[in-house]
Amino acid sequence: MSHKQARRIAKFIEPLRVEPGSRVDLAEDFDPRYKARLKKREGAELLRTGVGLLAEYQAKLAAQDTYGVLLCLQAIDAGGKDGTIRHVMSGVNPQGVHVSSFKVPSAEELDHDYLWRYAWRLPARGDIAIFNRSHYEEVLVVRVHPENLDRQRLPAEAQGRDVWARRYREINDWERYLCDNGFRVVKIFLNLSEEEQRTRFLKRLDRPEKNWKFSAADLRERERWDDYQHAFGEMLSATSTPWAPWYVVPADRKWFARICAAAVLVHTLMEIDPQYPVVGKKARKELRAAKRLLEQQAPEGAERDPYAAGRRG
Ligand code: ATP
Ligand code: MG
Repeated sequence: MSHKQARRIAKFIEPLRVEPGSRVDLAEDFDPRYKARLKKREGAELLRTGVGLLAEYQAKLAAQDTYGVLLCLQAIDAGGKDGTIRHVMSGVNPQGVHVSSFKVPSAEELDHDYLWRYAWRLPARGDIAIFNRSHYEEVLVVRVHPENLDRQRLPAEAQGRDVWARRYREINDWERYLCDNGFRVVKIFLNLSEEEQRTRFLKRLDRPEKNWKFSAADLRERERWDDYQHAFGEMLSATSTPWAPWYVVPADRKWFARICAAAVLVHTLMEIDPQYPVVGKKARKELRAAKRLLEQQAPEGAERDPYAAGRRG
């Protein structure tokens, strides 16, 4: 990637980044309809570029096998998490990407500490893991519906009013530990407006092939809109850190949200700057010996190296 392209991407995502230590007021600070004066037509080309860059970087990340990347996607219902994953990751090698979707915890998951089920699905070195919902549900839905916390059966001394502040600290510490050990945590919040959510729900009701996506629970959650906005604001303020900042992606326009998500991910990979391993002197000697051996095995009349011959034309 050229320096110019790298600078352009860094500048593009700058307004989306939650400054560590700042206090976020979602409604004041981030507009779900922002689109950086782009037109949808220009957007398609940009997304193609982003997807291509991701594929390139992911191949290097896997080859280098030193760093891993965890992408956390959070959003209110109908925020567009699934579509973002589908489009942004459309060009990468599926072998290097793992998507985990987190739902209501199972009995086994509830029998462990709250980060257990997320730790289980962390990326290996060389991999990109995507969390469709993430450990942040533990300070979102669990906060908005405190009965979820009761189900976690915390000991008495771990309950109480400071439980959320403690969870923010624990999550920050956990992410710092991951970062220090070669795993970058990228966090994207898809910021949808209340009116656009209403439209998307209606689309799910109006179109038979989308009916399966609608659940009555979505409407019940919508009634808690303000509580969720508050919980998102608190989460963004408390857990945007220098080692794992949050990006608030405007989500009312799906095409723009996808470009932003791709840009944030490319930017992280750009910073890691993975490289194909360089073959050392000894290994090069072994490669030359292997080549000689294979050339000697050429049948009568065949090219010694059909690949090289093919390339020569
Ligand atoms: P879709 O876009 O397909 O609706 P989704 O991510 O909303 O995808 P659902 O199966 O509809 O998936 O919902 C999962 C539900 O699980 C959400 O309501 C979410 O709040 C809930 N959930 C996730 N993590 C937890 C948790 N730790 N405790 C309680 N509920 C959780
Ligand atoms: Mg849902």
